[in-house]
Amino acid sequence: MTEHVASYYATSANPHAAYPSLKEAIRCDICIVGGGFSGLSSTLHLVEAGYDVVLLEAACIGWGASGRNGGQVVNSYSRDIDVIEARYDRNTATLLGSMMFEGAEIIRQRIKRYAIACDYRPGAIAAALTAKQFNALREKEKLWQCYGHQQLELLGSESIKQAIASERYVGGLLDRNGGHLHPLNLALGEAAAIQQHGGRIFEQSAVTHIDYAEPATVHTAQGSVIANVVIVAGNAYLGDKLEPRLSRLSMPCGSQIIATEPLPHDVARALLPENYCVEDCNYLLDYFRLTADNRLLYGGGVMYGAHEPADIDAKILPKMLKTFPQLKNVRIDYRWSGNFLLTLSRMPQFGRLENNVYYLQGDSGHGVTLTHLAGRLIAEVLRGDVERFDAFAKLPHLPFFGGRHLRIPFTALGAAYYALRDRLGF
Ligand SMILES: Cc1cc2nc3c(=O)[nH]c(=O)nc-3n(C[C@H](O)[C@H](O)[C@H](O)COP(=O)(O)OP(=O)(O)OC[C@H]3O[C@@H](n4cnc5c(N)ncnc54)[C@H](O)[C@@H]3O)c2cc1C
Repeated sequence: MTEHVASYYATSANPHAAYPSLKEAIRCDICIVGGGFSGLSSTLHLVEAGYDVVLLEAACIGWGASGRNGGQVVNSYSRDIDVIEARYDRNTATLLGSMMFEGAEIIRQRIKRYAIACDYRPGAIAAALTAKQFNALREKEKLWQCYGHQQLELLGSESIKQAIASERYVGGLLDRNGGHLHPLNLALGEAAAIQQHGGRIFEQSAVTHIDYAEPATVHTAQGSVIANVVIVAGNAYLGDKLEPRLSRLSMPCGSQIIATEPLPHDVARALLPENYCVEDCNYLLDYFRLTADNRLLYGGGVMYGAHEPADIDAKILPKMLKTFPQLKNVRIDYRWSGNFLLTLSRMPQFGRLENNVYYLQGDSGHGVTLTHLAGRLIAEVLRGDVERFDAFAKLPHLPFFGGRHLRIPFTALGAAYYALRDRLGF
């Protein structure tokens, strides 16, 4: 039996019962592979629309990146709209631009509709470490406003110090429509909502094989599901075997987080007085926020190929102390690692494997909001409205340079180059 990794989230998860594992042959309209936000969001949209849906999760709900991430509800995509405008045609940019604030809205609606207790707090800051990054934030503000997002505030050198008690930042962009939350509790709340609508969830039920036919048959070790439609949402944990057509298009990457002991309320509020979450503007970025019980949760860096560092504290603690040297005597209670799925373009990969088999993957470290949009788009496609899904599906899904063996060193080399530019302020 696979349990959640030992993390702050697993320890503070809302009480919940385990879902059964699949031990029989069943039928449904739609079978979803993977119980992270991509799978949960899709399932919830589909059961809300009246479909009979079965969700199969290899471990437990939210076991993957969705139950381990920084909890930052960040708008837009891993590549921002300026890059999208430069790279793709105008129609594509307009369509993608019109969707880039929708995922966060879906999350807020879900929290409200299903009364999900997941500590949502509004406000997300992109923090600039250099004048160049701050200028880029100015441009981003204008660009996002062009796409209809008005909830932004540029923070100059004084205002950023009032928002973050650190000497590192020269400015920032506050997005009041971003925010932060307890991601595992959001996942568990969404699973409960799926059950309320009659959706069937099975944990400890890894999909081992899919017979592609119409209908398709999805096999687990002890059961099977015959479904008219299948949606593959295993993301970085899908592995190489179940669907090599997907794994060759992307690269699992690791990111690590530490959580301090609960800080006295005044100490915590002195760090982040408005309780906003923060990610910096570096290529290999740091991200941090306070939890509901006043811990500082600090993450950063990328392990290409998803190797786990032997010592997470040694990797993350120096980053935290560089930002907040005032925390040097604070105890670290939790440390954990999780994998997200990187794509070459850093745009998500949504598409079709067969007429009746879809996939959602590769949010490239930016998936809390995007996975929620993805679920809505899948529901639209299944009712025959393909335009918005296809705006993503038509983007080229290219493999990494170097194939399976060389893609990791090649990508790490590229990232080292960009990290050096960040360090030198270019
Ligand atoms: C440490 C870390 C910090 C992050 N911080 C942020 C953040 O602050 N903000 C943000 O926007 N994004 C963040 N991300 C990215 C974000 O968490 C992901 O993009 C998002 O959760 C992906 O959701 P998913 O459902 O696609 O994948 P996952 O949540 O990984 O879910 C995939 C699920 O599929 C299951 N599965 C795989 N194979 C099978 C199979 N064969 N059969 C059945 N089930 C299977 C897995 O067990 C897993 O539970 C972070 C990621 C990590 C790792």
